[in-house]
Amino acid sequence: MQIELAQLAEILGVPSPERIPPNPDRICSGITTDSRSIEPGNLFVALRGEKFDGHEFVATAAENGATAAIVDRIVDVAIPQFQVGDTLKAYQTLGRWWRDRFSIPIIGITGSVGKTTTKELIAAVLGTQGNVLATQANYNNEIGVPKTLFGLTPACDFAVIEMAMRGPGQIAELTHIARPDIAVITNVGTAHIGLLGSREAIARAKCELLAEMPDTGIAILNHDDRRLMATAATVWQGKTITYGLEGGDIRGELLDGDRLRVDGIEYPLPLSGEHNALNYLAAIAVATALDFDLSPLEAGLSVSLPDGRAKRYQLANDIEILDETYNAGLESMLAALKMLDRTPGTRHIAVLGTMKELGEKSIEFHRQVGEMAQKLALDALFILADPPEAEAMAAGAKGVAIVEWEDATSANAHETLTTRLQNFIQPGDRLLFKASHSVALDRVVGFLNNPS
Ligand code: ATP
Ligand code: MG
Repeated sequence: MQIELAQLAEILGVPSPERIPPNPDRICSGITTDSRSIEPGNLFVALRGEKFDGHEFVATAAENGATAAIVDRIVDVAIPQFQVGDTLKAYQTLGRWWRDRFSIPIIGITGSVGKTTTKELIAAVLGTQGNVLATQANYNNEIGVPKTLFGLTPACDFAVIEMAMRGPGQIAELTHIARPDIAVITNVGTAHIGLLGSREAIARAKCELLAEMPDTGIAILNHDDRRLMATAATVWQGKTITYGLEGGDIRGELLDGDRLRVDGIEYPLPLSGEHNALNYLAAIAVATALDFDLSPLEAGLSVSLPDGRAKRYQLANDIEILDETYNAGLESMLAALKMLDRTPGTRHIAVLGTMKELGEKSIEFHRQVGEMAQKLALDALFILADPPEAEAMAAGAKGVAIVEWEDATSANAHETLTTRLQNFIQPGDRLLFKASHSVALDRVVGFLNNPS
């Protein structure tokens, strides 16, 4: 991102700062909200959070070579300061301004689960045709989306922007900033249901992406998610491409050995599991919307996800771990259990932890996960959860031969669980690990991977 100081004042609609140097055509290159990562020439934006106030770091930013700062109160530091009412809004305004300088296809993606996975798959598919800018880490919120957009350069041919929300109105806000040409909604689930109240409310919030997209946009929607399709129809009448395993414009058939057949052509799946087949179909739908030649995909794509998602490790003696410890909600638990069940092996063992933020649905959803373990006839279920949730999951799984649970709130719960597992596992076992991030089930995977 590059901007002249005079232009900055104009875009933000504020007077030029009094301490502006005599050359208003001085350029800020790069923009940051983190004084620790500032590079000479950057524009520093002083954000306020619950635990921090960026205004305390304007001096550090100046010392590190910042050209100017955006603030909501003038700080006693000798650096041009643009005073605005709301620094986050200013950051977003600049993100939108920078985005508007590019006329490449921008793909916005939201949904209850599978955003990051689908974003990576779309980026890999688009990467066969050009340079792709994609959201890094979890920069998918009101700060992360503009941050991602500032990464646009003339070398980019496409951008894939992940958008998350925790309440109504947030996706609309992100859509105004990123102004996507193509909007992908993966599904409507129950993530954050404790905050939003109902699945209908979640569906409406996700569909803000469509409602706020220009009429010229293209919607890419999961045909198999009926609630999504019904809600989308109330706000979007524009061009739409649906995808699914049950139907849709781009209909896939999942074959053994992680292959997907679409329109008579077989594609190797970059990631295993039914849910990842759906995510890949979304990426194929985006490629179709952009009139791509799909033949490069027939040779297969290699896609690596960030830690804790769809990771597979081999322990010694033919024991395989499916590491899904990054996070968990109802739908992703059910999807991961099915993925475990499809994995060839002798015994199928699930090691599951609490799903957080489910509010009053918590007990019911933990029971449903247990019921799925029973339905799939898993060989064993180990639970690391708070007692009410652990009991509900165990009750749901009462037909599973071995069900053991550990109180996640007790000291050394992770170590105790590790020891139990070490004594239990044997060659041929396939183990799925999945829980909300804060349960830190990745520690148990770490212990098993590197026993001391
Ligand atoms: P976050 O809200 O944390 O950003 P996300 O929407 O980006 O999550 P991912 O990180 O892609 O989601 O996936 C999280 C987990 O959800 C995965 O590890 C996998 O278990 C599961 N998952 C991914 N895609 C789907 C899908 N289409 N349906 C159900 N579960 C899925
Ligand atoms: Mg994500």
